[in-house]
Amino acid sequence: MEAYRTIAALFAVRGGDAYYGEAVSQREHALQCADEAVRDGAPDALVAAALLHDIGHLLHQLPEDIAEQGVDARHEAAGEAFLRRYFGPEVSEPARLHVEAKRYLCAVDPRYRAALSPASVRSLELQGGAMDADQARAFAARPFADDAVRLRRWDDAAKVVGKAVPEIDAYQEILDRMERQNSARPK
Ligand code: FE
Repeated sequence: MEAYRTIAALFAVRGGDAYYGEAVSQREHALQCADEAVRDGAPDALVAAALLHDIGHLLHQLPEDIAEQGVDARHEAAGEAFLRRYFGPEVSEPARLHVEAKRYLCAVDPRYRAALSPASVRSLELQGGAMDADQARAFAARPFADDAVRLRRWDDAAKVVGKAVPEIDAYQEILDRMERQNSARPK
């Protein structure tokens, strides 16, 4: 189906790009994140969201050290528009909310904040820093907030250099099914 073809092509062309400030590529990061989701028993939609949460990074041509230059690339917005073309909110929303989920987790879990990588601490500041108590309450009440928080923890774990995980084709069936489900949904 169209989504898988487009995504596989994006991975082939841009997947070798560095994952911002980390020692793994965008492809390695995405595939590790999806694998974490599978191992954690996530439903298919959330596995797809994990695989595609940073697809926005592959859709533009910004330099890879963009966070260090003090610019927030807003990759989650570009990614959202792309994902909404093919998938329902159960895929696009957890992906869209994964940056906010980091700000949320920093507010409610001190151990989470302490364990962030240096690059992730830098980008946190650009993303607005930890939420305050009101913001955290409002975030937790949003649809798909729990999914976004789960995704965020896999995201943070998906930075292991040289880890062997399944390739993109392992997810074709899930992506095709999610796309079919979405196009069958009344608009
Ligand atoms: Fe990520």
